[in-house]
Amino acid sequence: MGTVMQQNSLWQAVLGEIELSVSRGNFVTWFKNTCLLKQSGEEVVVGVPNIFIKQQLERKYGNLITDMLRKNGITDVNIRYKIAPTTTQQRPTEDTVAPEASSASSSGRPTADTYRNPKSGNSLAHSYRQGLNERYTFENFIVGASNELAFAACQAITQQPGTKYNPLFLYGGVGIGKTHLIQAVGNILAARQPGAKVLYISTEQFVQEFVDALRFRKTADFTGYYRTADVLIVDDVQFIAGKEKVQEEFFHTFNALHQANKQIIISADKPPKDIPTLEARLQSRFTGGMSIDMQIPDLETRCAIVQTKAQSHNVVLEQDVVEYLATNIQTNIRELEGALNQLLAFCEMRGLEPTLVVAASLLSDNKRPKHLSSKQIIERTARHFQIPLDDILGPKRDKDIVVPRQVAMYILRTELHLSFPKIARELGRKDHTTAIHSVDKIEREAQLDGTLRMAIADIREQLYA
Ligand code: ADP
Ligand code: MG
Repeated sequence: MGTVMQQNSLWQAVLGEIELSVSRGNFVTWFKNTCLLKQSGEEVVVGVPNIFIKQQLERKYGNLITDMLRKNGITDVNIRYKIAPTTTQQRPTEDTVAPEASSASSSGRPTADTYRNPKSGNSLAHSYRQGLNERYTFENFIVGASNELAFAACQAITQQPGTKYNPLFLYGGVGIGKTHLIQAVGNILAARQPGAKVLYISTEQFVQEFVDALRFRKTADFTGYYRTADVLIVDDVQFIAGKEKVQEEFFHTFNALHQANKQIIISADKPPKDIPTLEARLQSRFTGGMSIDMQIPDLETRCAIVQTKAQSHNVVLEQDVVEYLATNIQTNIRELEGALNQLLAFCEMRGLEPTLVVAASLLSDNKRPKHLSSKQIIERTARHFQIPLDDILGPKRDKDIVVPRQVAMYILRTELHLSFPKIARELGRKDHTTAIHSVDKIEREAQLDGTLRMAIADIREQLYA
């Protein structure tokens, strides 16, 4: 294989030839941001910024590229195209993202919301990264056939927000990566232009804020806040169904932003035409840009997701374990992640290797009808710690009673997935926050405390014996 520099100059030569044989527009659109990723023996891999360009090169320009490679001494090769977005990161155009002025002139979060949610009032210097979670990035998103198009569109938006694909409308079932992708766009845009007002909001929150704004007579604040966004990302817009006033408000927000060439990104669990009672005018706005149907990743992609997530926990899983998980959980990546986390936690607590046998027994446990009762769990826990049942259920606050009580809560949560209020009731507590704290505390302490881990493992074993 040639060195990177040789490859680069080879590709520059090829591009030079191509530039002479296609129109300026076509060159800029299809070729300018390509690069040579690999050239060895019979294989040439061309890096392209997105799926659209990939398809176009494959379908239309294959022969041209082959010819030009031949002119440069490369013959009898297979050409592959690979999406390699990082090669083409451009700065956004000045007028599309976030002139400082727009964020400076706009007020902060609506007052009604601040009232409702004190947390949002905390930051006096608004960073305008509202609602974004940095955990969602393009780097940790695994691309496969099911989400390739959505991924490419999102990448393209980061390069030129507000121009192409506006709005972008992503739709598909639960737990397949919609939120992840649209937040990744927001994170990139917010990082690139710290002054930009990049807003991510769930539709439920949007509705709630609007209702509050009406109630507190702050609709002007609400309106002002959203209509001055530079990028507006609205998640799960199906929840706007049936809410006429909010739809009307959203329609105007949409128009204001769209007319100002601000990027709008929307997700939903179904296409606009299938969202009941969605006003026709909103339907047509939503479909006025680019709509993309996302599917659950295929088996191969699910495997890659499992392996990558395991690696982020510093665990390398055997392929059979990876395949087992990816085969058994087919419809929802969130659940797949959950099963993986459960497996890793289970093994860590017991000092086991995450083998196929363990994975299989754990997953089939999950599917097995829950014949355990809360009562059994509490009794077992009390017996393990050798305290009377009356004490664990009673008012005493001694440490040797409190800890077993917390362990019982933890096991109720992990084994029976009971709600916190129910857990509290089962142990004779009135306040469900006690249950939240207890479960959280045991979960954290079990990581550090070997004796506690053993105790939990022991009780579990007894329960399933
Ligand atoms: P949705 O919004 O479609 O319901 P999410 O974006 O919340 O789904 O995804 C659910 C979980 O699965 C998230 O933790 C997300 O990071 C993860 N996930 C989904 N798709 C992928 C992917 N292709 N690569 C990596 N993680 C993914
Ligand atoms: Mg989501």
